[in-house]
Amino acid sequence: MATTTYDSENIFAKILRGEIPCTRVYENDHALAFEDINPQAPTHVLVIPKGAYVSNDDFTARASDAEITGFFRAVGQVARELGLAKPGYRMLANTGQDGGQEVPHFHVHICGGRVLGRMVQPAA
Ligand code: 5GP
Repeated sequence: MATTTYDSENIFAKILRGEIPCTRVYENDHALAFEDINPQAPTHVLVIPKGAYVSNDDFTARASDAEITGFFRAVGQVARELGLAKPGYRMLANTGQDGGQEVPHFHVHICGGRVLGRMVQPAA
């Protein structure tokens, strides 16, 4: 069952409401993209749905087809507009506790601008 308890005071909800500033890079009807405040690569952008979804689990369980299409179109469009399509990039969505998700509003990270190395660090 999807996790659906949404905290409307999370930081990305505040960004969507314009209560906290962000460096916006792209927007469509269903998604907003902005620069990560603590970039892990030369380019590091977050793409978030405009709807109130906790995680990828929640989003893919409850969002409409239009929201899902609009969101993932935005992810691809942002990467193209940032010039990442040809050299390549990584998109990832930390999900829940084991996934290391810190902000409980679904988001996809787009990282690029250098060779990013292995996908996941080996377990210690
Ligand atoms: P998570 O660990 O949840 O997948 O990633 C959350 C991301 O949000 C982190 O990369 C963090 O740097 C970013 N972040 C946290 N607070 C803010 C903020 O206030 N503004 C922006 N632009 N990014 C933030």
